[in-house]
Amino acid sequence: MYFNKGTFTVIAGPCAVESTEQCLTIAEGVKKHGAHIFRGGAYKPRSSPFNFQGLELEGLEILQKVRLLMPIVTEVTQVSTVPIVANSTNILQIGTRNMHNIELLKAVGKENKPVMLKRGYAALIEEEWIMAAKYLQLEGTEEIIMCERGIRTFEPYTRNTLDISAVCAIKTLTDYCVIIDPSHATGRPEMIIPLSLAAAAVGADGIMVEVHNDPEKALCDGHQAITIEQFGQLMEKLKPVVNAVGRHL
Ligand code: PEP
Ligand code: MN
Repeated sequence: MYFNKGTFTVIAGPCAVESTEQCLTIAEGVKKHGAHIFRGGAYKPRSSPFNFQGLELEGLEILQKVRLLMPIVTEVTQVSTVPIVANSTNILQIGTRNMHNIELLKAVGKENKPVMLKRGYAALIEEEWIMAAKYLQLEGTEEIIMCERGIRTFEPYTRNTLDISAVCAIKTLTDYCVIIDPSHATGRPEMIIPLSLAAAAVGADGIMVEVHNDPEKALCDGHQAITIEQFGQLMEKLKPVVNAVGRHL
């Protein structure tokens, strides 16, 4: 099990896998500061077809080098690539756009691998997000990590609106672990530290944060990434809050 209720698990890494050098630089940097799991997308479901779509198979190969350093999570976007992505990762990620993709949920569930299930950006907690998790569970997934990544509201100042109450709802309604992704929830690097502290305080089991060695040159979501140095500050500030709620980093 990668997550449990006594620790606070931190996932960090770039939005997208861009190169071996980029991934290893970020992985070494975040590991040094205490990150537990590396993230990075090889398959990127982008809203615009004109944006970088990910390195796909080449990206999965790069991720194998990162796996020599630490466990990883990466997104799977379609049924046909479930076996290859499952073989290439420790945790499979299902993204917000695919949370409602029943066939994908079933195919991923059959792999019997840990799954991080991001909340659809307009998904109801009880009737939709938890039911999507049940599809995974019924097929055989034993470790499900629910990830609140912000929902769409009328407010444009943040990319989405972080629904921190979703953590309490998941804890009340299920036994699943639940984490917060402040990067996609806000799209604003200056909000990552305060909302990560809020995640720890509210009882989340961890966070997932986008970190880049050179955010201005990132091929994907650079505007919301924090630097490796800022990630170090985040980990320092998290420690006392995590300890205060009876957990450890
Ligand atoms: C991601 O985590 O890289 C991602 C695309 O997130 P979401 O599916 O929440 O938009
Ligand atoms: Mn991203």
